[in-house]
Amino acid sequence: MKKQLSVLFLLISCLFVLSACSIGSEEETSEDKTYKVGIDVTYPPFEYKDGDTYKGIDIDLIKAIAKDQDFKIQFEAMDFSGIIPALQANQLDVAIAGMSITPERKKVVTFSDPYFEAGLILVVKEDNNKIKSVDDLKGEKVAVKKGTTGAKYATDNAEKLGITVTQFNDSPAMFQEVKNGNAAALIEDYPVISYANKQQNLGLKLVGDRLNGDNYGIAVLKGENEELMKKINEGLANLKESGEYDKIVDTYLK
Ligand code: GLN
Repeated sequence: MKKQLSVLFLLISCLFVLSACSIGSEEETSEDKTYKVGIDVTYPPFEYKDGDTYKGIDIDLIKAIAKDQDFKIQFEAMDFSGIIPALQANQLDVAIAGMSITPERKKVVTFSDPYFEAGLILVVKEDNNKIKSVDDLKGEKVAVKKGTTGAKYATDNAEKLGITVTQFNDSPAMFQEVKNGNAAALIEDYPVISYANKQQNLGLKLVGDRLNGDNYGIAVLKGENEELMKKINEGLANLKESGEYDKIVDTYLK
């Protein structure tokens, strides 16, 4: 009887150890994935580098979403024009980069619910009194950033407006071109250029009406990471509901 009991005890402890092991390994496979998030760090107040850390509305927002929905992320900084190709090449899982939701991009990516209202604006040097809207651009050079909605607007309307379009890899290079007088104007997202112009004393001014209206969305490759996108939308809704979304925006835009 005593022997039987100890065999039973041994069996039970074996089972216990086994089940503990399998719980452990399950956790490792499903929850340990770290999602790679593509960002454009030339884009304050949404994303920028401060020393060794990334900061900005987009950075705090995706971090808060990941915390709320219990997934892990890792940032990958790159040129804006490289972000969608990197999603397509499976080098990224997610993109948050002040990226406007557009019908063309929707063919390739799935966007989250909109999280910020933006739109394009024309920008010239502060002392330029000649150019008041896109109708005054005839014969002028216009600087844009590769792969952006601003670049698309300029190239789509180049003939009609009579402009030459020069493309740059990042926003600071594009701002510099107009500061230097190499280009007469640039096209940038309204919230970004109004922030940068004030913060960095760029000596530029915003002219005319907004050229369009659009919204930023978080993106994953279409047909992939759709489960993750569900979590992103849930997290975003929770942050809006709890007031944390407003707190994040207020940290950078006051
Ligand atoms: N919102 C613009 C776009 O989606 C610009 C984004 C950016 O420069 N990071 O094209």
